[in-house]
Amino acid sequence: MRIDVVTVFPDYLAPLQLSLLGKAQEAGRLEAHVHDLRAFTTDRHRSVDDTPYGGGAGMVMTPGPWGAALDAVLAQGPEGARPRLVVPSPAGRVFTQDVAAEYAADPWLVFACGRYEGIDARVLEDARSRYDVDELSIGDYVLFGGEVAVLVVVEAVGRLLPGVLGNAESLAEESHTGGLLEAPTWTKPAQWRGLGVPDVLVSGDHARIARWRRDESLRRTASTRPDLLARLDVDGLDRADLAV
Ligand code: SAM
Repeated sequence: MRIDVVTVFPDYLAPLQLSLLGKAQEAGRLEAHVHDLRAFTTDRHRSVDDTPYGGGAGMVMTPGPWGAALDAVLAQGPEGARPRLVVPSPAGRVFTQDVAAEYAADPWLVFACGRYEGIDARVLEDARSRYDVDELSIGDYVLFGGEVAVLVVVEAVGRLLPGVLGNAESLAEESHTGGLLEAPTWTKPAQWRGLGVPDVLVSGDHARIARWRRDESLRRTASTRPDLLARLDVDGLDRADLAV
């Protein structure tokens, strides 16, 4: 997968080179390019913002540098390719594990990081002629800029790419896959600060462990995210589930 990020703060994206995302790049599973929006300005002050039409607080990112940057990014890819342009915004559709899975199937994602009061609306309108544009929110709160949102999305998408996680099975059992939250987990030592681990987990009885984990998963979801439980497909439940 190829990822391009356009931002006024390229240094904010340094974590893309770390940990498993860095390794995914070394292994050639992910190719990330970060572009400085100011490189596409034409004035002496390298300005990227101006006052909003209609008045109001704050500044708006001007269309000129954005148009040039998105043209330049597009020119770097294969001819005729139509990447997905992800524009982080608190006014976008909400990012979920399902959206991450959708993005993981895309060969090319381009991210446009807004700052200030956001980007002039014409940039997205213009981009729709050559990109599939997606305004995306990472939650119902407001950040200073889109860079942190990009890191969130790239982490969630990157770990779904084939070969990035050492054990792909961990994807099947985790929270937000299959509608439930994952059960709590324990590791060695068996005793720590006077606290033990549930007996069932050291029983060696794999069927009982699986049932116990499923029950804990149902209980945890009911307790902290009843909204997820309400959306669960009843066809996916068995009799033992309903007894919890
Ligand atoms: N005036 C905008 C509004 O009320 O919708 C908020 C602009 S915010 C201060 C600046 C930038 O931060 C946005 O353009 C976007 O890139 C990013 N941002 C802020 N909150 C976000 C969120 N919840 N999800 C994704 N991006 C966000």
